[in-house]
Amino acid sequence: VVGLRWFDRTRRHLAAWPHARSYVSLDLRAVDHDLDSAVPTVFDAVPEAVAALSFVTRGVAPDRVIGRGVPFALRTIAAHLAGDLAAWAALDEHAATAFADRVRRDRPRFAFAAFTGIDKASHAQGPDGPAVRAAYRRLDAWVARLVADLRAAGRWDTAHLWVVSDHGHAPIAAHDDLGDACRALGWRVLAHPTVRPGADVAVMVSGNAMAHLYLDPHDPVRRPWTARAVRWSATVEALLTRAAVDLVLLPDGDGTCQVWHQTRGRAVVRWRADGAVRYCAPGGDPLHLGGTTEWLDRTAAHTVTADGPYPDALVQVAAVAAAPRAGDAILSAAPGWDFRARWEPISHASTHGALHRDQMLVPLLTSHPVAGTPRRTTDVGASAFAALGLPSPPSLDGDSFL
Ligand SMILES: [Zn+2]
Repeated sequence: VVGLRWFDRTRRHLAAWPHARSYVSLDLRAVDHDLDSAVPTVFDAVPEAVAALSFVTRGVAPDRVIGRGVPFALRTIAAHLAGDLAAWAALDEHAATAFADRVRRDRPRFAFAAFTGIDKASHAQGPDGPAVRAAYRRLDAWVARLVADLRAAGRWDTAHLWVVSDHGHAPIAAHDDLGDACRALGWRVLAHPTVRPGADVAVMVSGNAMAHLYLDPHDPVRRPWTARAVRWSATVEALLTRAAVDLVLLPDGDGTCQVWHQTRGRAVVRWRADGAVRYCAPGGDPLHLGGTTEWLDRTAAHTVTADGPYPDALVQVAAVAAAPRAGDAILSAAPGWDFRARWEPISHASTHGALHRDQMLVPLLTSHPVAGTPRRTTDVGASAFAALGLPSPPSLDGDSFL
């Protein structure tokens, strides 16, 4: 699952569904089905878990999922279509209360709640808006309630309570609709909400500062960039001249991805099966790393990028480019821009999804000091398995910080 919207040219997993996805729709029901069935979720490992408003619920008993079912779905759709921040806040409040009740009553080994209010308010007002601050205060009150319950039950000293976000947020001043940009270059475009067959390019935007472009989507075979360059180079170069486009990633097969920047030139990110990555930049420096690196393990790759404008870019580029459903050209927006001009019920004043610092870095609060160094959000998953006394699945690419 490479983003909130994607296209699967192979259609392998999609017999019952169209082969384009937007999880900002009823497609959300397909998330559990879209995940690799060989990869266990934390809920598979802890079936007695409780989940509230979770994007992924595979492995949770249906009666332990808070925020599912037709009435809740209808309220969510109504809040989305109306772009109503108060309605989103009410959904979060309802789920937070039900979640706290379940945790107090059932004392589950693992409980997970995801609240959308901070994200929705940030999109509407920018990350410092008054509704955003109000959403943080509500979250603070819900955490305080959980802490009080855990103390009252004598569980506080042994429980782990963590607060984390799945992405940052950064203000934007302008939108540049990539679907329109591709149409202006003469191509037939497939983009949500208009998903029709017969397109030259499928434009799938997430965040809205990241976009996967699938070139010749009728071709059922995913091909390296060099195999598509003859027909598509001029288009990608034209997109890269737009002020909104910061980086273009071009997965090139065989553990390589080209990275292009409008003014800083081109380089290649390479990766190996053991997780090591390397930046080969003989003629340009699109990722601002100062030139070619040695082969770096995941920790070293984090260290060399951590203080720059694209934290963890080497590992993240390798991860997204290697995903079977990744686009043929993946665009990361310039600061101050996103890629979707229409169709958002909440007019976006802030964005996420690009490889920039403000959008990549997230807070992590833990109830007790941790021994290790948290580096990536995948580390939260690995640490949860460790805290539960369970082995981390080999498919999970995080490291425990406990
Ligand atoms: Zn968002």
